[in-house]
Amino acid sequence: MTQVTHWIDGEFSTQKSERHGDIYNPATGQVTGSVDFASSATIDHAVQVATRAFKEWRHSSLTKRVQILFAFRELVHINKEKIAALITAEHGKVLSDALGEVTRGLEVVEFACGIPHLLKGGFSEEVSTGIDVYSIRQPLGPVAIISPFNFPAMVPMWFFPIAIACGNSVIVKPSEKDPSAVMYMANLWKEAGLPNGVFNVLNGDKEAVDALLTHPGIKSVSFVGSTPIAKYVYETGTKSGKRMQALGGAKNHMVVLPDADLDLAADAAINAGFGSAGERCMAISVLVAVEPIADALVAKIKERISSIKTGDGTKGADMGPLVTRIHRDKVASYVDAGEKEGATLVVDGRNVKVDGDGFWLGPTLFDNVTPAMSIYNDEIFGPVLSVIRVKTYDEALKLVNDHPFGNGTAIFTNDGGAARRYQNEVEVGMVGINVPIPVPMSYYSFGGWKNSLFGDTHAHGIEGVHFFTRGKVVTSRWLDPSHGGINLGFPQNS
Ligand code: NAD
Repeated sequence: MTQVTHWIDGEFSTQKSERHGDIYNPATGQVTGSVDFASSATIDHAVQVATRAFKEWRHSSLTKRVQILFAFRELVHINKEKIAALITAEHGKVLSDALGEVTRGLEVVEFACGIPHLLKGGFSEEVSTGIDVYSIRQPLGPVAIISPFNFPAMVPMWFFPIAIACGNSVIVKPSEKDPSAVMYMANLWKEAGLPNGVFNVLNGDKEAVDALLTHPGIKSVSFVGSTPIAKYVYETGTKSGKRMQALGGAKNHMVVLPDADLDLAADAAINAGFGSAGERCMAISVLVAVEPIADALVAKIKERISSIKTGDGTKGADMGPLVTRIHRDKVASYVDAGEKEGATLVVDGRNVKVDGDGFWLGPTLFDNVTPAMSIYNDEIFGPVLSVIRVKTYDEALKLVNDHPFGNGTAIFTNDGGAARRYQNEVEVGMVGINVPIPVPMSYYSFGGWKNSLFGDTHAHGIEGVHFFTRGKVVTSRWLDPSHGGINLGFPQNS
């Protein structure tokens, strides 16, 4: 049994916790560990440690920061298989997927290695006679990162490499369902030479989140999770005066125009609909088929689903289990609801047969879905793909723009003009053109619109650097030596 505690001041916490959570292996359904839930005293201690560490770390040279970031990058790279195995054991996603998320996280560390360039300010000489103006960016202080279960390594890594590179100290509160990947990386930071107290991990649930949101020592919160919690976190944090970014849920539409390559579109729907069992914020959950191609497209997707192997992510399956039994049952209840509401159930994942007592649900496909149905409106966050049929591009666009979520979307077409129009008209933060999931690239920023993001700042890229720093503008006048001061041999003003 794994015992997960907290990581504070460069070591595992020895403080006793009164509350704990179970950690499961979703492929076996068995409890494999226990995670401590931080008390308010532990949280306060961690914030004090992070505050003390910040005072020194903010003055560390850019050269030193970059050396530590490079060392951390190497250590994560060398240990990426171990981190991926921890992810699969607690989340359930297949190993190749887990490895993919570590690689994406590493790209943010690599981006942060360029921090000397990213932190450069501006300088204007002689804005008035003898007066110069320049800008600098300074760190905030101790910052909190609160992450969801579905990317236990990548999502925290969207934030902490940049926060640390900018000179902040960090407290990560990972999901209580799969905390081990972040705990493992804490040790790697220490090995890389990061001073104790700059990177800390507190485990817990709502109680820990609430304490971080209101603690006066925490200067900003980066949150990723479901929309109701993201909205609550954003509102609570801003009320207590913190800088906030809260990324929420999604319902990503993939529009397929009649001229699209249907094999490409069907492959994309399979990968983006059922990869990681649909537990991705960039998963495609609605396919908008612009007639007359719906019959042909649904047939191609159905055929491909028959070859998806659902099973243990460590044993060569294509799709793993869902994260918990409660979540599995919630997703299955949406399949029940879709049937009752009158959608055509083309493939039913509820009957999938897999050995063991894991949280299994196979790929599920609905056709003839309508905007009135709960399977269309709600984020299901499981392997359920809904096909909705429309007659025109305008009808498709209206559907996407009327939906309250705006995280990602894709369009499949061979008409560059149509794609260009879609990218311009669609009210969504991230758009794929003949690409189903626009993946996060570290040097661009990641984030949605509407109910998929609360706050103004997206994750990583230059927006990440701005989120983790405050701008300062200095106006300076240095008198010419001829005006006096130490006599350095300049001719004196008469
Ligand atoms: P969640 O909202 O249940 O939990 C996220 C975090 O909030 C966890 O650390 C959890 O401990 C904490 N939390 C849970 N309930 C809370 C409460 N009542 N008060 C305060 N804190 C609370 O989300 P999840 O189920 O872990 O993750 C899946 C969700 O995250 C999906 O909705 C998915 O779309 C979203 N997500 C979004 C993005 C994005 O970039 N927009 C990326 C990944 C995941």
